[in-house]
Amino acid sequence: MEQADRIVETHGLVKVYGDGAAVRALDGVDLALDAGEMVAIMGPSGSGKSTLLHLLGGLDQPTSGQVIVAGQDLATVRSLDAFRARTVGFVFQLHNLLPTLTALENVEVPMRGQPLGRGERRKRAIELLELVGLSDRRDHLPAQLSGGQRQRVAIARALANRPRLILADEPTGNLDTAAGEEIMRLLNELNESMGTTVVVVTHDRRVARATRRILTMRDGQITDDHAMVDPLTEDLRELGRSPLGQSLLQGQVDELARAGYLSPEAERLVEGLREMVRAAARP
Ligand code: ADP
Ligand code: MG
Repeated sequence: MEQADRIVETHGLVKVYGDGAAVRALDGVDLALDAGEMVAIMGPSGSGKSTLLHLLGGLDQPTSGQVIVAGQDLATVRSLDAFRARTVGFVFQLHNLLPTLTALENVEVPMRGQPLGRGERRKRAIELLELVGLSDRRDHLPAQLSGGQRQRVAIARALANRPRLILADEPTGNLDTAAGEEIMRLLNELNESMGTTVVVVTHDRRVARATRRILTMRDGQITDDHAMVDPLTEDLRELGRSPLGQSLLQGQVDELARAGYLSPEAERLVEGLREMVRAAARP
């Protein structure tokens, strides 16, 4: 039985591109996301993050395995276009706004296929631009907006049909730090106020930290699934994975101390730090 609050489920998801020298972009991904989660997907370039996102959103089809979104097995969905329009909002690294349409008109585009009158469409687009803080930029063309503003328009557009799931692929990839933080704050807000499930692909650990769960991918597999805790513990865990943290944990510092390279004060500090890293590394 499907759990009521499961929004995404994949079973043994495999995606192979091409034949001959085929690339196994996804190599058996089992994933479950509950409605209302805010999740980051990290991992090196080429590890399969975008491929996974595309399959979750029905933009592409798996070689084998199953994708279930909002209770529907995507292999059995008759019109993936209609499914996408209703259920999923996409935000990409490059905003893909139509250059000749204003911000307001861009937000209206996904509503065109829906049974909405022109007036209703306009009203909703106005509300959405307000939600992303761009009421005063309604009639601007994309070229007249900053990168961060364009990305906010793209988010408003993704929300047009009140999707249950937002899939964002490197949404801060082209933005400076401040604009990127603004986008993550906005996604967090949407997640909290509307309960929209948000999946963000990023290779920026700071961006990932704005979520509550981090999945790590490597060679087409999910190799780590990590629930976020408090910032200090996150810092210590990160330190624990670094070369310094590893040498702390493995006691190489003790040798330095024995050889007289550390003052007693430094030794005490290191010992305290080691205890903290150790504690944080415990599951
Ligand atoms: P990521 O988003 O983590 O950088 P991708 O999902 O884009 O990774 O790619 C995973 C692997 O699949 C890479 O080796 C990539 O070169 C390959 N790949 C992605 N899309 C295609 C495609 N359309 N045709 C062939 N190979 C592809
Ligand atoms: Mg990618």
